[in-house]
Amino acid sequence: MPLFLFNTLTRNKDEFQPLHPPEVGLYTCGPTVYDYQHVGNYRTYVFEDVLRRSLRLFGFKVRHVMNITDVGHLTSDADEGEDKMEVGGAREGKSARDIAKLYTEAFLEDCRELNLLPPDVLCKATDHIPEQIELISRLEAKGLVYRTSDGLYYDTARFPGYSRLVGEDHVRGIEEGARVGANPEKKAATDFAVWKFSPKDKKRHMEWASPWGSGFPGWHIECSAMAMKYLGETFDIHCGGVDHIPIHHTNEIAQAEGATSKPFVRWWMHAEFLVMNSAKMAKSAGGFVTLADLKARGFDPLDYRYHCLTAHYRKQLDFTWEALEASKTSRRRLREASLGLQEEKSAPARADFDRAFRDSLADDLNAPAALASVWDMLRSAMPSGMKRCFLEQAEQILALGLFKEEATELSPDAERLLSARARARAEKDYALSDKLRADLDAMGIIVEDTKQGQKWRKK
Ligand code: AMP
Ligand code: ZN
Repeated sequence: MPLFLFNTLTRNKDEFQPLHPPEVGLYTCGPTVYDYQHVGNYRTYVFEDVLRRSLRLFGFKVRHVMNITDVGHLTSDADEGEDKMEVGGAREGKSARDIAKLYTEAFLEDCRELNLLPPDVLCKATDHIPEQIELISRLEAKGLVYRTSDGLYYDTARFPGYSRLVGEDHVRGIEEGARVGANPEKKAATDFAVWKFSPKDKKRHMEWASPWGSGFPGWHIECSAMAMKYLGETFDIHCGGVDHIPIHHTNEIAQAEGATSKPFVRWWMHAEFLVMNSAKMAKSAGGFVTLADLKARGFDPLDYRYHCLTAHYRKQLDFTWEALEASKTSRRRLREASLGLQEEKSAPARADFDRAFRDSLADDLNAPAALASVWDMLRSAMPSGMKRCFLEQAEQILALGLFKEEATELSPDAERLLSARARARAEKDYALSDKLRADLDAMGIIVEDTKQGQKWRKK
């Protein structure tokens, strides 16, 4: 079955074909680790996870690379202001490196809780300074960069098709909207820093020697350099949020293609914003919500994953606590229904539901439609074993913890009885294990013995 994916570059839903089937090279822009990520960020990561899982379902083998931005992302997209990492360090009285470590670990823990598959390569910008310097040298050799007093800038007028990803009108808007007095040494408003010199008046924690002087890389160069290092000069899919289209990804293309004269990325895919009170959820906007905030209010991170699946990734998704509550209820019902289904050997899912589920994903990852097909199937008269088989397959994409028994939901007493029963079975003391099963049953917990050991569910 063909898979259609919307490509920001062609502005069309195109049939996806990788360059070297069945391999797919996938690069996703990772976090800037100066603070916790908010649930808006995680909307984009959930979309990327559904993409990755769907590619697998459609028979592809994905090599997924994600970067960690731990240097060079400035507080202003116009290459002004301070490095966000240095700001984060100063805020917490720590070095930029300590901040990076802290928030990278927090990010990875959140990803685990959201059932996001770990990337095959997780690469830090600070571990790839030589690669970035080399790429800048290639651009310099082609006459595509120029020097100002504060850094080396990309001369966008010398790269034909600079506005290809975002459209010419938008780029004209950037030019017209450029603030008077904003870096007068820049030749054009769209020019951007590939290397910044260390400020003379302020000590930075992170700086490196380069052919142009001591300093640090611009934000965009890390993604071009690391994507090409791990996936080749031309690769299949590059993702991020829609905010990356006009600047970050447009600049990544200019850097990569300027250096190689080859197409950089074949499919560009972007997730629309999570919005709160009609505005993009953003760290700079304040009032953002983290996964820890959700947990403090009694939500499971997977309730939020469910919430993300209720909207198509190219439509804005509204964040309200009421809507999240509704997603929590839906996930709980889906889990209860799943856990209540009998396991049956060789019970293939009915083809029509399976097809509806796959068709939805094949249509540019229509997750809400895929989810609807799951509910339709549950309401149908299909035998329990077949339903379970279908749900187990669907769970490979949805990853909503449908069959996960949540040990944390058990009381300490019940946990003690379950452990005692596992021990009794290991010691073949079946009389005791039956007694313990009855005790657990009286507490509302049903225990079943499977090949993988005992499994439990609440009545
Ligand atoms: P950052 O840490 O700011 O570099 O962002 C990490 C990822 O989250 C990027 O792909 C952004 O495009 C994405 N992102 C940021 N804010 C939102 C939002 N409100 N909704 C969806 N994605 C977002
Ligand atoms: Zn990036």
